[in-house]
Amino acid sequence: MDYLEVESSREFVARLDHGRDWRAQVEAFAADEDVASAFFVGLGAVQDAVVYFYDQADQEYGAVEFDEPLEVAACVGNVSELDGEPFAHTHAVLSRADGSTVAGHLDRATTFAGELYVRTFDVPLERAHDETTDLDLWPL
Ligand code: ZN
Repeated sequence: MDYLEVESSREFVARLDHGRDWRAQVEAFAADEDVASAFFVGLGAVQDAVVYFYDQADQEYGAVEFDEPLEVAACVGNVSELDGEPFAHTHAVLSRADGSTVAGHLDRATTFAGELYVRTFDVPLERAHDETTDLDLWPL
């Protein structure tokens, strides 16, 4: 395990806008506030969602699309830089009216309502290609 000691410099609470993409709003916030590294948690509801699952054998993302209202029962993610832009790596557990859940790497979702807590760090993190996984990871 590689690691880096960080200090938290700033904290935010945020209310996501209705009708806008969940992850894009996090990235726009990061750009506006010059946030180069952060972790966040969130909850709320979305009107649809596209969730990715990474096939470890094929090293390819597969997408699953849900065109239905879903609760964001839990959302966790982080912000770092990818190709010089803020990237919000976002995972979510989404629930249906019957309580069943779907979950995964959240690519996009239209926000119904959402609340976030964001804690930023004093050091920038930039993703780089990792040979072993074929993912863009933190070279700590
Ligand atoms: Zn992911």
